[in-house]
Order: sequence, then C-alpha cells, then structure tokens
Amino acid sequence: METMINDETLQKVAEIVGSEEAVQVVDVLKGVNEITDDEIASKTAIRLNSVRKILYKLYDHSLVALRRSRDQHTGWFIFHWRLQPDQLDGFIQNQKKRVLEKLETRLGYEKDHDFYHCGTQECEKIPFEEAMELIFRCPTCNKPLMHLDNSVFIETLRLKVDELRTELSE
Ligand SMILES: [Zn+2]
Repeated sequence: METMINDETLQKVAEIVGSEEAVQVVDVLKGVNEITDDEIASKTAIRLNSVRKILYKLYDHSLVALRRSRDQHTGWFIFHWRLQPDQLDGFIQNQKKRVLEKLETRLGYEKDHDFYHCGTQECEKIPFEEAMELIFRCPTCNKPLMHLDNSVFIETLRLKVDELRTELSE
C-alpha cells in the first residue's frame, strides 16, 4: 500500500481537494489500515471539523472507504476511515484527462482568435469580433484596446498539453 502512494500523488490529491491539510490527512491515512477522524485530528493538529470536511471530500471521490461502529459507552457513531489506494491512480488519470481536454479547448480558442486588450491587468482580453463592436474601447475601463500578442501564452499551453499527453500515454 505504502509504495503505491508517492509524494507526487499526494500533492495531486491535495490540489484536487484544495488544501495542504488534505495532504496531511492522506499522509496519516496511508500509514495505517484504519483510523477514526478523532485520531487523525490529534495526529495532525488539524481541527476535527476540517478533518471531517476533507474526509468527506475524499469520500465523494471514492478515495477513502468508511466503516461505522457505535461507541458502547456514549452510543454515538464512530467513523473509521481507510484509504482506497487502487482508486487513487484511476482518479488522478481521470483528473489529468479532464485538465488535458480543457487545455486543448483553450489552446484551440487561443489559436483561432485574435485578441485585444487595454493594458489594465484586471481587465479581460477581448476577441477581435467583439473588440470591433466595442469600437476598440475596453468595456470595463474605457481605455483603447490594442492588439495582444498571445504567442507566449499559446506556447505555454502547448507545452502543458504535450506534458500531459506524455504522462497519460505512459
Ligand atoms: Zn480595461
């Protein structure tokens, strides 16, 4: 089990779940067979509420399994969590595929359009057809719109796309 989950995988999961705390939670999970949310909280010093939120997110993606038992003294439910490492690989592959599709769509869009921009960082770039309708004035800040060279951005996208394609074909 341990060998299947490397740091890169953990990092990817964290990116997907959206927090560094998720890395810590998965890190604890991968070292044990089964563990309660209470135990994770005390091992990581992450608040119990946050631990639970992370666990449910992972559960949504079938990355962890859940077993319920009842505390004999309090009568409350205890939740036991277990990592499903075999799900992890497939999950990450799927995520990569999704990202790749998005990047390819974006790359096509960037290649097919001529963009105009006002130079204000917060403002959006505008495709030629739209810029023409706006008589080359930024609809947000009213500055004149100028042609935007997106070749560097296209190149960055292309590299990412290539990288992902290679990763997915391995
Ligand atoms: Zn503007």
